Order: sequence, then C-alpha cells, then structure tokens
Amino acid sequence: MTPVGSRHQNARMPSRFLILTFVAAAAVPSAAAAQTPAATPPAPPAGDPKLTEVWEPVPKVVTPPPASATPTPAPSDAIVLFDGKNLDEWVNVKGGGPATWVVQDGVFTVHKPSGNIETKRKFTNYQLHIEWKVPADITGTNQARGNSGVFLASTGTGDNGYELQILDSFENKTYVNGQAASIYKQSAPLVNATRKPGEWNVYDVVWTAPVFNADGTVKSPAVVTVFHNGLLVQNAYTLKGGTAYIGAPTYKAHGASAIKLQSHGDPSAPISFRNIWIRELP
Ligand code: MG
Repeated sequence: MTPVGSRHQNARMPSRFLILTFVAAAAVPSAAAAQTPAATPPAPPAGDPKLTEVWEPVPKVVTPPPASATPTPAPSDAIVLFDGKNLDEWVNVKGGGPATWVVQDGVFTVHKPSGNIETKRKFTNYQLHIEWKVPADITGTNQARGNSGVFLASTGTGDNGYELQILDSFENKTYVNGQAASIYKQSAPLVNATRKPGEWNVYDVVWTAPVFNADGTVKSPAVVTVFHNGLLVQNAYTLKGGTAYIGAPTYKAHGASAIKLQSHGDPSAPISFRNIWIRELP
C-alpha cells in the first residue's frame, strides 16, 4: 500500500508545482508590462537637440605637453589671420562691418553682443593653426562653459557651416560629440587633450573641402584631420554634412568659404584667441 500511496502522492505533487509555476510565470510578464512605461524614459520629441547627443564612450583624458608661453611663429608661406595687433582680416558676420571683438595684449576676446566673426578671405583646402584660451575663472557646466567654435567653412549666417567645437572640456562633463575638438554632433575626439582653464590650447587642422556636382549633389565629402595640443583627435574624419544642433547633418552646395569663429550665447565669460595662421593647399 505504502508504495502505491507514495507513487500517488509523488504523481500529484508535480502537478501542484506546475500550477504554481504557471501562475507565477503568468504574473511576471504582466507585472513587467505594467512597469515598462515608468522604467523607460519617454523618447524626446522630434526636433529635440538631445536626440543627437552621444554620451559614451568617453574619450580618454591625455595630459598634453605644457603650453608655450609665447605663440609659435607662422611659417613663411602662411597667411597670418591674427598676429596680435588687429582684426583687419576679420569682419562681423552680422552686418559685415569690421570685427568688433576685443583686441588687447596680443590676443583677442569674443565680444558676445557682436555675434560671430569670419575671415574676409575665402578658402577651400588648407592647413590652419589657431590657439584659444578659456578664462581661468570660467564658470558654468556642460555646454555653458567656455563654448565657442571654429567653423571650418561658413555656409551662412548664424552657426551654418562645419564646427570644430571649442569648449572647456577640462573636467567638464558633456556629450562627447560636443566636447572640445569634436566635429560638433558628428565625431567625438579620439582623446581629451584639453588644458585647464587659463592655459592656451592649440588646434592644428587639415581641411579638405567638400566638392559638389553641378546639380548640387556631393561629389566628395569634406574630410578633416585635427591635432589638439599636438595629439591626434580627428583622423581624416569624413563629415556627414554641415554640423547641426538639431537633427541630422546635411550638405548644401557651396564654394570657397570664410572661416568663422563662434560667439556662443551662454552666460559664461568669453574666451580668447591668438596666433591664427593658414596655409592654402591644392
Ligand atoms: Mg560651439
């Protein structure tokens, strides 16, 4: 009897276990489904600039060699765009009059109310050297801390063009495709070589302009190589189009273009520039 009873009981226990398992299994998905809306943040609406922010991976911080106390002299075949004396090579983008940023002690400083400035000359392919410094007492966080930029070709007023970002990226977290030496919202720098506020940073850029067909389509896209304080940060990066704060980059046909410097609207103190020269390339 006992063996039969045992077998009988043994046979019933699994079925009870199965029922409990089934109930539990049925409960799990419905609980998960109920939590999903709360666990997943709502997607930003179309047109939200956050959609094109990339936060990872974070480029490694590399300490560059110390900054030079004095600017590196330009080579003999360079066009000097700022030699410490005046802004004769530059104009205000708004209105096109003489550039009204502030020249003092061999450097010039962004004058935010004047807006962006750009070169009088237009360029196609070139090698550019430009030095910039964030004030030692800079305040703000994220994109609102020493933001400026070099538009490697200006394709219109405002921020139209291809922006090589300038920002205080020394211990200042932001989206990596918007930190210093990024091609704004397209390509994060390979490393973070930003010197601390109050020290001069150097960009050396090789720019190959995009070429367009007669119908306005892209024959060959823009390509850029950038060194930041001597460290390679953009290695022959092929641009997807003009840099855009909102939405995907796109190309719009253009020819030789001015180089433009950004007056950014954030409330942090304005940054300074010195020693800007360019060598035109075939
Ligand atoms: Mg900028």
